[in-house]
Amino acid sequence: MLAISRSLCQKNLQQSHFVICSVRTCHRTWTYKRSLIQDKTDHRKPQYLKLQKYGFRTTQNLHVPPLMAMLLRPILRFGALIMGRSMKKWWRRKSGTEKEEYKQWFRQKSNVFLGCFGLYSLILTLYYITHLKTDPLTQRSRFIIFNREQEKKLGKMVLEAHLELHKEDLVPHSHPAYRRLIRVIEQIRIANGDLKSMRDTQWTLTVISTPLTNSYILPGGNIFISLDILKIIENDDQLGIILAHEMAHSLLSHSLESLSDQLLWDFLIVIPILLIWALFPDMAAAIIHMIVERIVNVMYNLPFSRVLENEADEVGLKLAAKACIDIREAVVFWATMRILTEMHTLPPEFPWISTHPAHGDREKNLNLIMTKALELRKNSGCPLLPAIDPRDKFYKRSSKEHELYFKQRGIIEDKN
Ligand SMILES: [Zn+2]
Repeated sequence: MLAISRSLCQKNLQQSHFVICSVRTCHRTWTYKRSLIQDKTDHRKPQYLKLQKYGFRTTQNLHVPPLMAMLLRPILRFGALIMGRSMKKWWRRKSGTEKEEYKQWFRQKSNVFLGCFGLYSLILTLYYITHLKTDPLTQRSRFIIFNREQEKKLGKMVLEAHLELHKEDLVPHSHPAYRRLIRVIEQIRIANGDLKSMRDTQWTLTVISTPLTNSYILPGGNIFISLDILKIIENDDQLGIILAHEMAHSLLSHSLESLSDQLLWDFLIVIPILLIWALFPDMAAAIIHMIVERIVNVMYNLPFSRVLENEADEVGLKLAAKACIDIREAVVFWATMRILTEMHTLPPEFPWISTHPAHGDREKNLNLIMTKALELRKNSGCPLLPAIDPRDKFYKRSSKEHELYFKQRGIIEDKN
């Protein structure tokens, strides 16, 4: 019953290209929204066909269903581990003579094994090359093995799971935060209506009440935001920056890119995993396996995630600029996060082992691209910005003044 109500909630959003999701609110609006849903189904059809025809030029590629990809990941790794371990046990059961015979056979067939390895590498390389797509927003070539339709299906599935996970934390849509958030999202969405991906995305919004200061977006444009982060956000311009960042993740299909990338890595790492478990005793193999995974994570996965975050910051800044937001507030927001971290109000940062860049780095990066973004804002026909730059106002404050200011805003506790 809940699932049906939620899917209706999704469709209701078609009215304004936007849906608010919460178990209770969707449930309540069932009856009167019904006729609207029926009407909308008909209107959607041509748009859906248009998407298939023009949206993606890679339909001839071999697209992997995302659910299969998610299931394949642990199967590949665990399969390599089990196979390596079985090979080790099988080898131990052989007598000295048998081992010598096998070694000789392996030497004779070494070219066949090398050929198989070469073919495996060639298939992966060809698959990688044929699935590279240039993103229209950034002109960056990325490896993506899913299409937008699959993203929508995946998004629906992940959204259901997240709504279930947060069913106790869902904020009813009568909460004033919804009105404020929708107004800002609509401002960004309408101002960037020239982007096809913006028009084609079925955005949804879910506000949750959790102790985590967080906002994130699920595949398919499903935005989640916690009430706690709204306490830190000083004004609607900063809110626009945060929301534009999340929307940029969706427009850039970062979730699909990450999943594609992880799956490729899994196909590459199965051979080292198999060899580790075949060549070393179990305890040593477990330690080496763990070290290899950590190295790959620190050297590749986490830096890659930080690159995507920086990209979402940059594209988000442009989306916000076109929506006439005072984008200088982006720097103020990340500077606020940096200072709150220095004051130990927010958890400490470990940039090398984090999926996100350090707050201070985001502050610096955004400052570096600010001039260009301000130019874009000006060329988008936006009204002039206030003469007082919020960055100057922020940086002029001393540590004591920051502390006092945060106390006044209720971000940090006033112990006096
Ligand atoms: Zn992000």
